[in-house]
Amino acid sequence: MSSDWNRRTKLVHSGTRRSQYGEMAEAIFLTQGFVYPSAEAAEARFLGAGADDFIYARYGNPTVRMFEDRMAAIEGTEDAFGCASGMAAINGALTSLVKAGDHIVAARQMFGSCLHVLKVLGGFGVEVSLIDGTDLSAWSAAMRPNTKVCFFESVSNPGLEVIDIAGVSRIAHAGGAVVVVDNAFSSPIFSRAVELGADVIVYSTTKHVDGGGRVLGGVVLGTRDYIRGPLETYVKHTGGAMSPFHAWIMLNGLQTMDLRVRAQAANAAAVASAIAGDVKLNRAIYPGLMDHPQHALAMDQMGSGGTMVALDLKGGKEAAFRFLNALEVVLISNNLGDARSIATHPATTTHKNLSDEDRALVGITPGLVRISMGIEDGADLVADIRRALAAA
Ligand SMILES: *Cc1c(COP(=O)(O)O)cnc(C)c1O
Repeated sequence: MSSDWNRRTKLVHSGTRRSQYGEMAEAIFLTQGFVYPSAEAAEARFLGAGADDFIYARYGNPTVRMFEDRMAAIEGTEDAFGCASGMAAINGALTSLVKAGDHIVAARQMFGSCLHVLKVLGGFGVEVSLIDGTDLSAWSAAMRPNTKVCFFESVSNPGLEVIDIAGVSRIAHAGGAVVVVDNAFSSPIFSRAVELGADVIVYSTTKHVDGGGRVLGGVVLGTRDYIRGPLETYVKHTGGAMSPFHAWIMLNGLQTMDLRVRAQAANAAAVASAIAGDVKLNRAIYPGLMDHPQHALAMDQMGSGGTMVALDLKGGKEAAFRFLNALEVVLISNNLGDARSIATHPATTTHKNLSDEDRALVGITPGLVRISMGIEDGADLVADIRRALAAA
């Protein structure tokens, strides 16, 4: 049975729907809508909630449904909804769960756009408490009778702090709250989020799922009641649905995701151990290194240190820029999860809008460089990064 398949098999085959032509590759249904043979058939289609009752691409599309079914199969949830971007998915997940007067507890180690969504919800009367997500006692202390959602990135961007999904889930569930996890940095390959107690799991599929830096996408995963109930209702009526073309790109990405992500993580581990202790660094941050504050948790939760490495250079912004400008293989950009290795200077790019104080709070020093390891040859990456460190 397909539900018994191991993940590499599911990544290739799950969710595939073949048309009457029996095409090999997943078909792309680049269509906004569907034609009905009669008025009665149209009426029936609008009444029916069958898995193949498609009526309008904002509500669902066969290519998008293949992507959703494949994502749910690999994550181990009952259902999934494809969204236009990671942020459409996060906005949908949070907004569909709260109303004025409700309370959200969230880890302050967070992507700037996620903070913005919380700020917007705050303007509509949702109370938000930002805490240090790595401190379980802070989660307990922040819970209130009206807490509806506990929200966090399981591995934070860009500081690579690891948050305990099982620990937060125990606290949240004891207080009647739903756990929403932004699992982007873990990637679906290193996710055990369902088993650890998360209720709603969100990915920016722009990252490891596409894996080629081509298109934006996102997905929300959870129970069928939640996904086809409040989540789908919110996203389909507010315009955040995934494009069929992007779903088709993502289906192709999924087929090779396990191979890519494991190669990326092996490169990340090789680079982190090769440069740990380098004289130019305050520290090399990688959850797979023994000196990482949540090393044991990372290994238990993900079974890997992941695909991301952060370096804190001693010479601040000037040293970071010399390092970046000396790189030959690793590209300067701001995506992650790509097959190409990418280095980012968060303080002047992705996190430039934060105040100095907020940047310090989430560990973004002027010398911090975040590297998303690609699938290039590991020895070439180690040599490139070592040479750039020498030039810094
Ligand atoms: C990239 C990212 C997002 C947003 O995803 P988009 O696809 O760019 O909208 C959200 N959370 C994290 C942790 C991310 O890395």
